[in-house]
Amino acid sequence: MSGDPKQILILGGGFAGVYTARYLEKLLRPGEASITLINRENYWVYQPMLPDIISGSIGLTNVVSPIRRLCPRTNLIMREVRDINLKDQIVTISPGFRPRHLQLKYDYLVIALGSITNFHGMPGMMENAMPFRTLADAMVLRNHLIHVLEEADVEGNPELRRQLLTFVVGGGGFSGVEVMAELNDFVRSVKKNYLRLRDEPHRCVIVQAGDRILPEMSEPLAVFAQRILRQRGIEIILNDRLKAATSERAILQSGAEIFRKTLISTVPSALPPIVQNLDCRKERGKLLVNRGLELKDHEGKVWALGDCAAIKTMAGVTVPPTAQHAIREATTAAINIAAAVRGGRRAKFEFEGLGTLGSLGHGAAVAQIFGLKLSGFHAWLLWRGI
Ligand SMILES: Cc1cc2nc3c(=O)[nH]c(=O)nc-3n(C[C@H](O)[C@H](O)[C@H](O)COP(=O)(O)OP(=O)(O)OC[C@H]3O[C@@H](n4cnc5c(N)ncnc54)[C@H](O)[C@@H]3O)c2cc1C
Repeated sequence: MSGDPKQILILGGGFAGVYTARYLEKLLRPGEASITLINRENYWVYQPMLPDIISGSIGLTNVVSPIRRLCPRTNLIMREVRDINLKDQIVTISPGFRPRHLQLKYDYLVIALGSITNFHGMPGMMENAMPFRTLADAMVLRNHLIHVLEEADVEGNPELRRQLLTFVVGGGGFSGVEVMAELNDFVRSVKKNYLRLRDEPHRCVIVQAGDRILPEMSEPLAVFAQRILRQRGIEIILNDRLKAATSERAILQSGAEIFRKTLISTVPSALPPIVQNLDCRKERGKLLVNRGLELKDHEGKVWALGDCAAIKTMAGVTVPPTAQHAIREATTAAINIAAAVRGGRRAKFEFEGLGTLGSLGHGAAVAQIFGLKLSGFHAWLLWRGI
């Protein structure tokens, strides 16, 4: 081994990136490798609990953690990754106060840049729909909800008041369902404080492309979830999808239009442009990796994991984009990077998933975990416990 420690560069500080850094800190001595992580923010976000920020059932500080505290031996650079040059092994990052790009050379690279909400081909969505992925998105949405309630309270025109009190969520997967459940709880409880709104109905609509919500779960649990949400006053439009938006309306594929002020979309999901533009092998747009999570044609140098990678389980099934998988992928990648640095055993990704859990708002959830199917209050307790 040469005298200089190897340079390990991790791009992305979400579940996949932060957990890779943490495992590498355990596996490698400081003299063996220097670990650097680049992320837009200097904090890590526990995304599964983001929807709870909307209702305030969980405080802001409870869903974030400083990356420097989580990975004390990793150099964190809070910048934007601008370019990845796989051939010359160089990553370019955005300028800071000084207007110049920085270039970082690496020996080993981890690409863990997650995914984004992509409104491409959906006219008006970029300007009029709100994505829901980041802490900033959650805070903007909560403030927006308070603003529309204030406006609805002073609005004399009943039709405009109805518009202000109509909330549409595109996407009936976990995040869409959880966002709507929390939003509905929040509006219902806060509305009581407004003298002119407390008896005014509000309308919450989920638009889902498939014939049921929660495609990630078995049908009986999804049907249970639909029943609970409908009992709580949430409309579910199935077999339709958002096509476009104006500042006043959500326009669906079927031609139906919903007059609303609030439109949140959790779909469709795409890779960050920097990953889309990367010149390497992909599957359905995601970075193609082998069982050791090495990028195809760049084995031993580059690893890709988390939501931006196309990974297969032992059974050959595509790994879903979840936090529980990203954490296990990080272990596999860290073992293999440590082996590349100093030799030793290599690992293959073998995790098949513990199950799925989804909150339906206060006091109700659905869970399919360790072979058990749970719904209602017990599932909610389990969700909160985890
Ligand atoms: C609302 C919501 C609810 C969810 N609920 C659950 C759940 O209940 N259970 C579950 O298992 N999973 C859930 N997920 C999915 C889970 O959060 C993701 O699968 C997981 O976060 C993926 O981890 P990742 O590291 O690949 O990506 P991310 O966690 O998205 O991290 C990517 C990181 O890269 C950074 N980044 C991206 N591009 C750049 C760039 N160019 N320069 C610098 N930094 C960049 C981002 O800022 C981010 O910090 C949920 C997701 C959302 C949005």
